[in-house]
Amino acid sequence: MQPIHNIYNQLATPQKVVITMHQKPDGDAMGSTLGLYHFLKQIGHTVTVISPTNWAHFLNWMPDVATVIDYENKQAIADEIIAAADIIFCLDFNTLSRTKRMEPVLSNTNATLVLIDHHREPQQNTFTFGISDTGKSSTCEMVYDFIMASPWQQLINNDIAQCLYAGVMTDTGSFRFPSTTASVHKMVAHLKELGLQHSTIHEALFDNGTENRLRFIGNVLSNRMQVFYEYNTALIAIPQADLIKFDIKTGDTEGLVNYPLSIEGIKFASIIIDRGEERKCSFRSKGAFDVNTFARTYFNGGGHYNAAGGATTDTLEKAVADFITAMKANREQLSTYTF
Ligand code: 5GP
Ligand code: MN
Repeated sequence: MQPIHNIYNQLATPQKVVITMHQKPDGDAMGSTLGLYHFLKQIGHTVTVISPTNWAHFLNWMPDVATVIDYENKQAIADEIIAAADIIFCLDFNTLSRTKRMEPVLSNTNATLVLIDHHREPQQNTFTFGISDTGKSSTCEMVYDFIMASPWQQLINNDIAQCLYAGVMTDTGSFRFPSTTASVHKMVAHLKELGLQHSTIHEALFDNGTENRLRFIGNVLSNRMQVFYEYNTALIAIPQADLIKFDIKTGDTEGLVNYPLSIEGIKFASIIIDRGEERKCSFRSKGAFDVNTFARTYFNGGGHYNAAGGATTDTLEKAVADFITAMKANREQLSTYTF
């Protein structure tokens, strides 16, 4: 993979560009792709953002989100656009499998593949240009760096600022995680100078839920959470019936995995949700417990040191039993609490 800055040359003449992200995009995936879209359009490129799947409704305030194509909904049109593309930017994921049904099309494309991502262990021999930096808070921060190091840095504007702020804010847990560096705060200061109304974005992302969702969270915390104090661990397991009963939509379960970390002493929090076709898992830790390795070892997944995910086709009961066995196997790392 050549350094990302080597793509600037090719961007000096108009290109047909596709920008894509991981399935079920979060604030960082949607914010980074749309931020890059607003930048590249101003240079004069033809730009299309394609999401592998649908996304949470609380992302729908982002400028030009209505132009984003949902691959599962409009595969024929998306395939045509991908086939004609000169450059495909891959944002906020490390392996093409994270694009679900788009994987075969991206594997076989003749377009130049460019990676901008902050997850561990990027797929080898896949991207011509790119940057993979696990030290970065978010892909949005990396898109900001990409814009500011380019010959077109003066094109950064409030549309771009809004999109990039959404991702840097959500991926840093509203600027609390250790990934929140001085550079992150400097970037946000610059975005504010461009006219960013940060409080409006917080409201759009976090104060936009339904009554059902809040009652669902109440039920989850009362009835679906187990705490294993001797392992400093908590597990939430949600049956599919709950999702149906409370009319839970894409994105409504986002952030739920973090709640148990607010219990004193808990350093490992997990959630397993029965989504019907599979049981989807999320893992979060504080301090010294590597959930990336845990997700890879036991749940066919991956991610970062303190935030990772995975999935299984086993039943929810089996997944919970396997989780407990895996937790017990990690007793040594879990039973001591160190920051
Ligand atoms: P979340 O728990 O929010 O879905 O994901 C947390 C982190 O783990 C994200 O950085 C995400 O990209 C990664 N992740 C989530 N699910 C999977 C998975 O099934 N496979 C891999 N490799 N990474 C995942
Ligand atoms: Mn991210």
